[in-house]
Amino acid sequence: MKSIIFSLLFLCVCSSMFAQEQDSLTDKKAFKIDLSQKILVTNDRFEDSIIQQKIADSLHDLAIFEKWNTFKFNPYKDELKTYPFLVQFTDSTYASPINRKKVITSRFGWRKGRPHQGIDIDLITGDDVMAMLGGVIRFAGYSSGHGKTVVIRHYNGLETAYAHLSKYAVKVNDTVKKGQIIGLGGTTGNARGSHLHLVVSYKGNFINPEYLFDFGKDNKIRKQSQWITKHWVGAHFHNSRVKSHITFYNSYEDALASQSKQNNKQIHIVKQGDTLYSISRKYHVSLVELCKTNAIAENGILKIGKKLLIY
Ligand SMILES: [Zn+2]
Repeated sequence: MKSIIFSLLFLCVCSSMFAQEQDSLTDKKAFKIDLSQKILVTNDRFEDSIIQQKIADSLHDLAIFEKWNTFKFNPYKDELKTYPFLVQFTDSTYASPINRKKVITSRFGWRKGRPHQGIDIDLITGDDVMAMLGGVIRFAGYSSGHGKTVVIRHYNGLETAYAHLSKYAVKVNDTVKKGQIIGLGGTTGNARGSHLHLVVSYKGNFINPEYLFDFGKDNKIRKQSQWITKHWVGAHFHNSRVKSHITFYNSYEDALASQSKQNNKQIHIVKQGDTLYSISRKYHVSLVELCKTNAIAENGILKIGKKLLIY
């Protein structure tokens, strides 16, 4: 009888683990987290005290393991995006990701007709790269374009990603402290010269890192509760060569109201017969502004199909 019950229990655990394979890929040997049931299933002995401790710790941090995937850079690709959303911090400062003055060489924004969804911080290959906040390593591997990359899931759900590394100092599912070395800087992936490509995201929404973090010498987190509007996750609303003006919203209503104004900003696809002048007239923007936003010369040739940002 005892063995039948045990077998049934074992089957239940196995099938439950199989069902959760897609959602929760944590440490395979020790345990798995069933997010739908908010319970932990284990294929090891419960009496093991280390595992029991791990279970207790993990239950505490369960919320941060949502869509836990250690194989993909972005496991949230197919999520429906709704704005504005709130990001909250318990810390008022972050740890600098590098041990030198932070020089931003390219910002979050539109760059050569493509979105640049992070910021580039200058460094020398072999420089230590540190975790900006504490968390758990969700991804540590090669990501196309990004090269060797480490992604940390923080306890508030935010993720920071560190790309173009030359070496890893951590592996997936490791817990890291704020300021802990996670790798060494480099040029892997599509990097012209050594730099850190730093990406900040929340549930698959790439946020302008400068909106949340002040990259000055004091390492300040700008606001403990920050409303993120469409504007701050859309690279096409920003220019990678210009620092964006920071606006704070005090409530959901404030953020929502500003968003409806932001909706007026759009992309114009160049058609036959268009001139910079006709486009500037159409959208009531100055020719100078239109050229500056899109980093083009006033007498430049417009290619049909080119996407122009209209502010
Ligand atoms: Zn970059």
